[in-house]
Amino acid sequence: MRILLISDIHANLTALQAVLNAAGSDYDAVWFLGDLVGYGPDPNECVDVVRSLPHLVALLGNHDAATMGRINTDAFNVEARQAVRWTQDTITPENLAYIENLPAKVIADDDITLAHGSPRQPVWEYILNIRVAAENFQFFDTAYCFIGHTHLPSIFHLDERTRRVDLVVPLENTIFDLTPRLIINPGSVGQPRDKDSRAAYALVDLEQMSVEFRRVDYDIAAVQARMSEAGLPQKHINRLELGW
Ligand code: ZN
Repeated sequence: MRILLISDIHANLTALQAVLNAAGSDYDAVWFLGDLVGYGPDPNECVDVVRSLPHLVALLGNHDAATMGRINTDAFNVEARQAVRWTQDTITPENLAYIENLPAKVIADDDITLAHGSPRQPVWEYILNIRVAAENFQFFDTAYCFIGHTHLPSIFHLDERTRRVDLVVPLENTIFDLTPRLIINPGSVGQPRDKDSRAAYALVDLEQMSVEFRRVDYDIAAVQARMSEAGLPQKHINRLELGW
C-alpha cells in the first residue's frame, strides 16, 4: 500500500491541488496530519477536497481547534487570531462539524502513530529539535510516528541501543528506508516554512517500507490575490512566497 502523507494545508486550495496532481494515481490512501484551515483563503474548498480523498485518515490541528472556538487563541499572534476569526466567519456549519469530529491522534496500519504536533501533546507541541524528539519517543509504542505542525520536513531517528536521536533534514526526491524507530514530518502543503516556497508532501510505501519526500510548484500569486481580496493579514500573504 502506498500512502500520500500530507499536513498543514491551511486553506490553500491551489497548493493542495498541485500536490494531488503531482502525486497522480501514485497512492492508495491519504493520511492527513492536521491544520486543514487557518491562514489561507479557501477553507470550505479544502475541506470538500480532503473529505473526498480515498481511504482518508484525517487529524485535528491547532488551527482547526482554534476555528472551532474550543481553545483559547491567546497563544496566537495578532495576525493569526485575525485569520482565525475570518475562518470562523467563512466556514460553513457543515464543514465546521466535519472538523469538530476529527481525532487528535490515531494509530494507522497497526504500527504507525499519527499526530498533528507530537505523540505527547497531539495538538500543540512542536517537535523542532532532538531534545524534544527524544522525549517524545517515550510517548508512542509503535515503530513510527508521523507528525506535522512545524511545517518543516524532517526525520528524527532513535537508535534503541544507544538511545541516541539524530535529525535528518530530507532533500526533495530522496527516498529513506523506514527503520525503527522514526518520527517523520512531511512538511507543509499550504505554508512551507523551510525557506522553500513549494508545497511539500511525502509518499510512504508500506511494502518497500520507504518514504519519499517531494516538492511541487504552485501558483502562489493566485493564492495571494484571493487572500488580499478576503482581507487576510498582509504578513501571511507575504510569507507564502518566502517559504516561511
Ligand atoms: Zn500548521
